[in-house]
Parts: sequence; C-alpha cells; structure tokens
Amino acid sequence: MEKIQMKTPLVEMDGDEMTRIIWKMIKDILLTPYIDLKTEYYDLGLVHRNETNDQVTIDSAEATKKYGVAVKCATITPNAARMPEYNLKEMWKSPNGTIRAMLDGTVFRTPILVNGITPYIPTWTKPITIARHAYGDVYKNVEMQVKAGTKAELVTTDADGNETRELIYDFAAEDGIIQGLHNRDKSIASFARACFNYALDMKQDIWFATKDTISKKYDHRFKDIFQEIFDNEYKEKFDAAGIEYFYTLIDDAVARVVRSNGGYIWACKNYDGDVMSDMVATAYGSLAMMTSVLVSPDGIYEYEAAHGTVQRHYYRHLKGEKTSTNSVATLFAWTGALRKRGELDELPELMRFADNLEKATIQTIEEGVMTGDLAALSTLPNKQTVDTEAFLVAVNERLAKLM
Ligand code: NAP
Ligand code: MG
Repeated sequence: MEKIQMKTPLVEMDGDEMTRIIWKMIKDILLTPYIDLKTEYYDLGLVHRNETNDQVTIDSAEATKKYGVAVKCATITPNAARMPEYNLKEMWKSPNGTIRAMLDGTVFRTPILVNGITPYIPTWTKPITIARHAYGDVYKNVEMQVKAGTKAELVTTDADGNETRELIYDFAAEDGIIQGLHNRDKSIASFARACFNYALDMKQDIWFATKDTISKKYDHRFKDIFQEIFDNEYKEKFDAAGIEYFYTLIDDAVARVVRSNGGYIWACKNYDGDVMSDMVATAYGSLAMMTSVLVSPDGIYEYEAAHGTVQRHYYRHLKGEKTSTNSVATLFAWTGALRKRGELDELPELMRFADNLEKATIQTIEEGVMTGDLAALSTLPNKQTVDTEAFLVAVNERLAKLM
C-alpha cells in the first residue's frame, strides 16, 4: 500500500512522562505505517523547555500561527516538586497558558462516547462540548478583607482624569470582604468568534448563558457582544448550515443541559466553564476519554488530550512495569489534527484516514478490548484489559482492515 502524502506540515508538540511514551507508540504503530508523516517537531518536554529557557514553547506557538494546525502532547506544568526532579532554572509557566495567550484561543472539550460506558446522565447519548472563556473575571480578581468602619467604593479614572465613584458597601459596623473583577471587550469578542467558528466547523448548535438579569452591565456586556457579532458576522452562515445560536440564563441552561440529549456546544464564562467542564467530564465517565482543541478567533487549531501526563503510570513504567494507560484522547488529538490538515490542504485520503482511525479505536473498545480505566467502567460482558501497547496493536488490527 502506498503511504498517504501530506502537503503542509503539522506542528507537532511533544510532551512529558507517560503521554510522551504513548506519543511515540501512536506514531510508530498507527501513523507512520500509513502516512508519510510531515511534521515540524517541537520538543515541549520539560527537559528541553528548561534548556531553551522556554523559548521552544514560544517557537511552537509561532509555528502554529504560521501553519494553522498543531497537535500537542500533555506537558508538565512545573510546581515546587518538579524543581529538583528536573533541576529547573525557573518554575516555567504552563505551556498551555503560554500557547493559549499567544493564539488568543478558546478551549473546546469534547467527550468520546463508546457503547458499554453509559454516562451518569443516561439521556446524554451525544457529546456535549464545553467552551470556556479563559480570560478574566474571578481568575484575575482583586480582593480585600475589610474592617468595620470601612467604606468600600468602586473608583475609575478616565483618560482626562475624571473620577467616577460608586458605593459598593458601607461596612459601618462590621467586618467583611470585597472583590473587583474585570473583562475586556476584545477578549469577549475573540471568545464569541472562536465559538461561532467552531459551531460552524462542527455543524452543531451553540448555547451561551450568563446571569444578565442580575448583572445588568457586566454579564449583559457578554450577552450584547455575542449577539452583535452573531447578527453582523454569523447569522447568514448559521442559517445556511442549519444550526442555531441559543442564548439563555445560566440557571435555565443548566436545567436544559441535564434534560438534553447532548450534541451541541455550550459556551461558558470563565468560572461557569471551570465548574461545568468538570461536571460534564465526570458525567460522561472518564477524563481519559476527553479531547480538547484550542481554537483562535482567526481559525487556528491546536489539538490535545484534556488529561495530564499521567505521572503515576510513568513512574511504574520507569520501574519496568507494563502500564494500562488510556491513549484514546491522545489518539483523537492526532486524528483531529490530521483531519483538519486534510481539510485545509484538500487531502480527502488524509481525512478518511483520520475517520478510519477513530472508527477502529471505538470498535476496539466496543469489542471489549480496553485499558484498565475503561474496563472498570464498562458494562460489556466479555471485557479484556490490555496494556498500553497491546491496545494500540489491537486498534491497528482493525485499522488495517478499514484501510
Ligand atoms: P493526570 O495526568 O490527568 O492524571 C491524574 C489521574 O487520572 C492519573 O493518575 C490516572 O489515575 C487518571 N488518568 C488520567 N489520564 C489517564 C489516562 N490517559 N489513562 C489512564 N488513567 C488516566 O493529572 P495529574 O496527575 O494531576 O497531572 C500530572 C501532570 O500533568 C502534572 O505535571 C500536570 O502539570 C500535568 N497536566 C498537564 C496538562 C496538559 O498538558 N494539558 C493537563 C493537566 C495536567 P490512576 O493513577 O488512578 O490510574
Ligand atoms: Mg475545574
């Protein structure tokens, strides 16, 4: 069989620990036998980030802007314990944070559904994708604890030096707390465009919700920016695609989500997205079955798994033990990136390969061959728990038949 040829390179961001091991296995067992894989490789493993003073992360984000599609392996975000472990010069920032800021991107997380693993909400027969606005609000807040006798005011000074004041609360007789939040119109607009573009890409409805009835200026601004951008730039495209933009109050949204069958994108403000993405991920069963894609407002895509580097499995791997680590989310990061590359470069055979690889992966699990984490959840009668590599080999047996 002739290998599938690529045109534009894919930006490949390698990572750390167990997912770095899985990364190589995926390429060796499932990709390079079928594709003449063309990537621009960036090693975002912590060792190399430290060697390059994290320049490699910036370079990889620049390359992503240039080529438009990247696939990323999970990476360590250093904490105190990692300083001696990797002999770090500095506690380098989260690569995901750096890349997200450079691309001004929004993260979309989608569960992969398989027969045999029923969501805790059994009516969720289709995936719910969560889009989280990753800027501002309580994550960039200023807060104070104040003593009795304090008067708290909101004060702004405009470009001409004029002050505007508004009383927050007069703590005349008791102690208390206050908090200052902000967001930027531009950031909200980028978020809105990333959401509308992604909805068109996925041909799915998009929901957005805030608490605009209570927060008449702050949350209402989110609602207005979304509506304005939708009406001016997306309404016709949505009509043509037969999809909808649906706005409602956040509490109404939560009630509707629980009663729904899934199959749409749910755009959330920063805090709602933080909380709801954990709720949705847990309800669908497993973090190891959650894919993630960072989308910039101008349509640049970076695919990855939602989980981390699976450190505990890696330490077992280093001791020579065989692990049963789930590679599905990392695999789907590759298929997502290859499909998008194929779409942009008009390579239907590359897109078909991505479809087939996903099909083979799901088929493998639905035929009962799976890693330990899924075996613990699956209700299939004849389950067979396999190790990390054996799973990929089992996927390849099915992939070969589909190709
Ligand atoms: P984690 O790597 O997601 O793993 C947490 C636990 O979840 C694992 O110990 C494992 O449970 C289970 N798990 C996660 N993914 C799995 C998979 N593919 N297959 C089987 N089990 C899986 O989170 P963490 O241990 O908190 O973080 C480890 C490192 O990852 C940290 O350095 C963190 O900075 C980094 N991280 C990176 C990203 C990213 O690059 N996007 C995201 C999150 C965290 P059992 O041990 O019980 O089997
Ligand atoms: Mg959270």
